[in-house]
Amino acid sequence: MIYFDYAATTPVDQRVLDAMMPYFRENFGNPSSIHRLGQQAEAAVEQAREKVAAVLGCRADEIIFTSGGSEADNLALRGAAIIRRNASGGTWILTAKTEHPAVSKTALQLEKEYGFQLEWLDVDEFGGVTVDALAKAVCNDTLLASVMYANNEIGTINPIANLAEVAKANNILLHTDAVQAAAYLDVNFSTLGVDLMSLGGHKFYGPKGVGALYIRKGTKLLPHLTGGGQEFSLRAGTHNVPYIVGFAEALSLAAEEREARTAHVKPMRDHIIGNVLETISDSRLTGHPEQRLPNHASFVFKDVDGNLLLQLLDAAGFACSSGSACKTGNPEPSDVITALGYSREWALGSLRITLGKDTTAEQVDSFLKTLPSLVEKARTLNR
Ligand SMILES: *Cc1c(COP(=O)(O)O)cnc(C)c1O
Repeated sequence: MIYFDYAATTPVDQRVLDAMMPYFRENFGNPSSIHRLGQQAEAAVEQAREKVAAVLGCRADEIIFTSGGSEADNLALRGAAIIRRNASGGTWILTAKTEHPAVSKTALQLEKEYGFQLEWLDVDEFGGVTVDALAKAVCNDTLLASVMYANNEIGTINPIANLAEVAKANNILLHTDAVQAAAYLDVNFSTLGVDLMSLGGHKFYGPKGVGALYIRKGTKLLPHLTGGGQEFSLRAGTHNVPYIVGFAEALSLAAEEREARTAHVKPMRDHIIGNVLETISDSRLTGHPEQRLPNHASFVFKDVDGNLLLQLLDAAGFACSSGSACKTGNPEPSDVITALGYSREWALGSLRITLGKDTTAEQVDSFLKTLPSLVEKARTLNR
């Protein structure tokens, strides 16, 4: 099987696994315990926090460990919205239909169940949120905007630093979901200037089920899990020490090796984009042609059932993804592709190819040889 689905998840790096192993058995203590085993575990968690802070260029006490990117998004949105409304009375939340469901569904819940008002920010033809779109939507009662750093389905990178300036000038909080971005882009807070930023370990060769939220000093959140006082009383529960250690190691390696990893995948990605658009009729690149993740190629093909194409690719030995949220049954085009303005006959035929550390030029060539005939086959079966 050739794996082209690194945006869905990545294998754990051996060095990350090595760093985690001692914390399952030898150093198994609870970081909240007073005795030495507890202290050792606490030291491991605090070292991990320092390591994450070093990559982000922030203070260690601005990092909260969570169970993943989704939880970090939930804590950021719900935690900030409820506290800010109580403090200031504002009610509006701004986000976009291109967001990951961990953000968009949380925003919808805040609207439906908690009485917030929700406005969807305009996105451009590449699925990006512009400075103008944010500036236009902000009003006096806006509490919070959430705009992702890089999109998982279409790869588009948003101008987060510029959006943060707009947010700051209007005295609203800006959260960014950087779960995809952290694998390849600079996540230093001094360049980004956001108030809240979500990260997830398994998108950059760390383990699944662990993530972090950066919370700018002084930003108040409603605690998310109540219980013991862990994570500055924002997120109760005994620390998942080995996963936290693995998360920090993976993020730190991603930062160290960012340039090399980018140089490895980008030429192959460009080759895929050029070749697919040239050899397959009625094909379009989705997302931004330049401002996109360096490992990310995404397309729509007219009159193709994207799920069928994925099955044909799977049978031919390639693990890829579509934008469609629905795995079986009556397929619906994804919200992200629909937000780009594609009609149904285009939107249902989406394909995402995401590359990683272990991708080779031979794998790409073999994929490019196979794809055109499978798209044709899917078209024939669609008629
Ligand atoms: C994967 C992903 C998430 C969810 O992260 P988990 O760690 O799987 O919960 C959130 N946002 C984006 C953009 C993602 O790609």
